[in-house]
Amino acid sequence: LDADELTDESKVVIDFIANYYKSIEKYPVQSQVKPGYLSSRLPNAAPSSSESLEDILKDVTDSIIPGLTHWQSPNFFAYFQANASTAGFLGEMLCSGLNVVGFNWIASPAATELESIVMDWMGQMLNLPSSFLFSGGGGGVLHTSTCESLICTLVAARDRVLRKIGSDKIVKLVVYASDQTHCSLFKGTKLVGIPPSNFRSIRTSFSTGFSLSPQALEDAIQKDVAAGLVPLFLCATIGTTGCGAVDPVKELGQIARKYSLWYHIDAAYAGSACICPEFRHYMDGVELADSLTMNPHKWFLTNMDCCCLWVQEPSSLIQSLASDAEYLTNKASESNAVVDYKDWQIALSRRFKALKLWIVIRRHGLANLMCHIRADVNLAKRFESLVTKDNRFEVVVPRRFALVCFRLKPYNKSCDGLKLNRDLLAAVNQSGRAFMTHGVIGGVYVIRCAIGSTLTQEHHVDDLWKLIQQKARLILANGK
Ligand code: PLP
Repeated sequence: LDADELTDESKVVIDFIANYYKSIEKYPVQSQVKPGYLSSRLPNAAPSSSESLEDILKDVTDSIIPGLTHWQSPNFFAYFQANASTAGFLGEMLCSGLNVVGFNWIASPAATELESIVMDWMGQMLNLPSSFLFSGGGGGVLHTSTCESLICTLVAARDRVLRKIGSDKIVKLVVYASDQTHCSLFKGTKLVGIPPSNFRSIRTSFSTGFSLSPQALEDAIQKDVAAGLVPLFLCATIGTTGCGAVDPVKELGQIARKYSLWYHIDAAYAGSACICPEFRHYMDGVELADSLTMNPHKWFLTNMDCCCLWVQEPSSLIQSLASDAEYLTNKASESNAVVDYKDWQIALSRRFKALKLWIVIRRHGLANLMCHIRADVNLAKRFESLVTKDNRFEVVVPRRFALVCFRLKPYNKSCDGLKLNRDLLAAVNQSGRAFMTHGVIGGVYVIRCAIGSTLTQEHHVDDLWKLIQQKARLILANGK
């Protein structure tokens, strides 16, 4: 690594990225390549000698960019957005540039201490009870994904109970969530050795806005207890992936306490919105939770990847995840006066992600971060009102954040609503001018318009709506 070469070549790459952003709207939002497209464009073996950066960037332009779905396009309305920002990018650069591996405190004290400080800052911004903060006896860690956090909390919950009832009872443990809960919870349940048949996916419906009913939860728990099973883990969600539903955090928490379940709150998407006072009430009752996650890489202007996990009782995590080896021993760890984050996660090695989140918070400030959330919610309200004004369409699930689930109404009894909307979505996406995805909510096929890409402005939302109307006109003209 030569510092002068680093200066020269990184400038070229930064210019390349800046030009990409300037011209991002010229690309079809969803990649239009066919499977296997890349192998015909690239050599089938690694080069034996060094190649120039110029040649490599030409290949990026000619071969890689066509195979990208442009998540940073202002016309990206699919899944949930992956926010990027200049601050997030600069933080990533510093993280990669310094390239330290802070698995324990001594391996880079600043990496650990900054992470603990930033997790407390984030917790304060969300107005979490002090019991989730290091300053109040709890604490937080940065993981790569909610999936990783769920596995870590499931393992901690599992071991906490098995220490009391014996490890052979693992087959009796039961995990509860709603049928809207992210699929990573089911995956995590299997990974930690709990039988998949002990996963209770409790049905939700239009009548509760697709939130988990406390009564249905308690009924399921009582049935399991009567059958000799051991209720272990409850996951509530603030902002479900399918339709942005919110589970009643407080009521569910009271049930979790009553039956001694580990209570996790998944706020991967909508947790960011809870920095705004008008959304914070969705977290009321959070003090009853054992753990909470949110993903700054979704809606908090933080480039991939970054997931915050807070726990009220760090020792539960540490007892399950601590790893020991002679080469890792040191006086600081033995003193118990430091955090060793290797014991809060699955892997040993870890990136200095806190630097990125710290820079995002400092460069924007809380007030601007709130404006960012509110601007997206206002764009979603605008889109929602455009849908509502056109009586050929309907908003299927009430909007809470910046996700609008809508559909073209079947025009008569024999019209297949699923096919109608699938065709509409395909027509929009194939145009290359926008990209949305779908969901099936309560048996109804809906188109999801997730607003929140960093570059999206009012005119992009208006253009999206014109595009949808134009495609709908054609489909309706052909269908009727
Ligand atoms: N939970 C919710 C509510 C989500 O929407 C998502 C992803 O969209 C996840 C969990 C999974 O997050 P990750 O990709 O960080 O594991």
